[in-house]
Amino acid sequence: MLDKILIANRGEIALRILRACHELGIRTVAVHSTADSSLYHVRLADEKMCIGPPQPAKSYLNIPTLISAAEALDVQAIHPGYGFLSENADFAEGVESSGFTFIGPRPETIRLMGDKVSAIQAMKSASVPTVPGSGSTLGSDPAEIHRIAKTIGYPLIIKATGGGGGRGMRVVHGEAALMHAIDLTRSEAQSAFGNPNVYLERYLSTPRHIEIQVLADGRGNAIHLGERDCSMQRRHQKILEEAPAIGITDRQRRQLGERCVEACKKIGYRGAGTFEFLYENGEFFFIEMNTRIQVEHPITEAITGVDLVKEMIRIAAGDPLRFRQRDIVFRGHAIECRINAESPINFTPSPGTITQWISPGGPGIRVDSHLYSGYHVPPYYDSLIAKIIAYGETRDEALSRMRTALSGTVISGIATNLSLHQELLNDEAVKKGGSDIHFLTRKLESRVAQA
Ligand code: ADP
Repeated sequence: MLDKILIANRGEIALRILRACHELGIRTVAVHSTADSSLYHVRLADEKMCIGPPQPAKSYLNIPTLISAAEALDVQAIHPGYGFLSENADFAEGVESSGFTFIGPRPETIRLMGDKVSAIQAMKSASVPTVPGSGSTLGSDPAEIHRIAKTIGYPLIIKATGGGGGRGMRVVHGEAALMHAIDLTRSEAQSAFGNPNVYLERYLSTPRHIEIQVLADGRGNAIHLGERDCSMQRRHQKILEEAPAIGITDRQRRQLGERCVEACKKIGYRGAGTFEFLYENGEFFFIEMNTRIQVEHPITEAITGVDLVKEMIRIAAGDPLRFRQRDIVFRGHAIECRINAESPINFTPSPGTITQWISPGGPGIRVDSHLYSGYHVPPYYDSLIAKIIAYGETRDEALSRMRTALSGTVISGIATNLSLHQELLNDEAVKKGGSDIHFLTRKLESRVAQA
């Protein structure tokens, strides 16, 4: 087993990783920016080091500084969490070539999946269903592009090969707008991702977002841990997730899960990962793979009893996967609400000091949060401040536990989206389940129209 891990992240996920390490008897190093010296996990870590000023580029994204910290504090491995450098192949490579263990997939795998076109090609060769599309980067000949677009049909979506975080995409409704939209997306992609390549996909009008969690040890063993429904999104940012996804049959879960497991074996996948799909009219279409732990991992932990972060660490330490597929038994239903420091009306970030924090509790409730009364939410980072996870034997029980939990949560001093979650949990469509990815946008628009 490893004996000392550097946590290259902040906030709730850094605390989550720290807890997993301590449960495994592994010592922890917290690295933090000058804005984050009072983070909860920094207080709990065995050792800490300040790695620079608040701006992420000068601290959490600074590869040489992170590797120097690992060297200076003599750690064996680095856990990247999510966001920041978690899907940066150069970082993973730098970590490994400096003699440390990267808790995640091999750098080549991150690179393969980070390029959306190579990811789609890898999935096709593993028989994972993909969205009908160009399947490769577009060339420069307009006649050829028009021909490809016609075959796919309109509306279609132009996507940047190197895109991420919901950026670098544009929907086109007809031939007349195509070339101009491609030029715009290419130049945006060049400036945002340093890569102007784009490809085309059929635009699905009312899909759900359903994703499959996997674990693999890079030695030929892989399992899936079922699906999560993450259709409740605003501007491609997930805000509420649930597992399992309602309406998905055991057979569909097994078939799609098996395809993902085969793909993991084929690419020699190592660690925890997520295959993201759009689901429409009974069909799944792969859109991308996340080669890291995800924000919404606790709902899968709730229904399977598997601690994904501890398993990632064990795999990185070289242990073979401890589970076979038949060991994974799905039980009950789980929902996660992401609590953000933002206005529930116009979603502007709301940094500031938390004057009071009362965390919910009770049977089936899990809270992953770095908050405490007196904590100052800095303005420099993601607005996620807490995740409330409700588990129940049935979906209805999970929903009612979540309602109870939300009404018992107190966060004073800053604005949060707690009231939006309360509204959602009482919405008839949410109670029914199975909404598409545009549901929340439509709901918010109708709210504005009524005001
Ligand atoms: P990113 O890496 O930026 O998150 P994704 O490929 O995962 O990009 O797509 C993000 C979101 O964009 C999806 O969750 C979905 O809402 C929308 N989207 C992507 N591809 C399509 C498509 N072919 N049709 C309809 N919506 C899409």
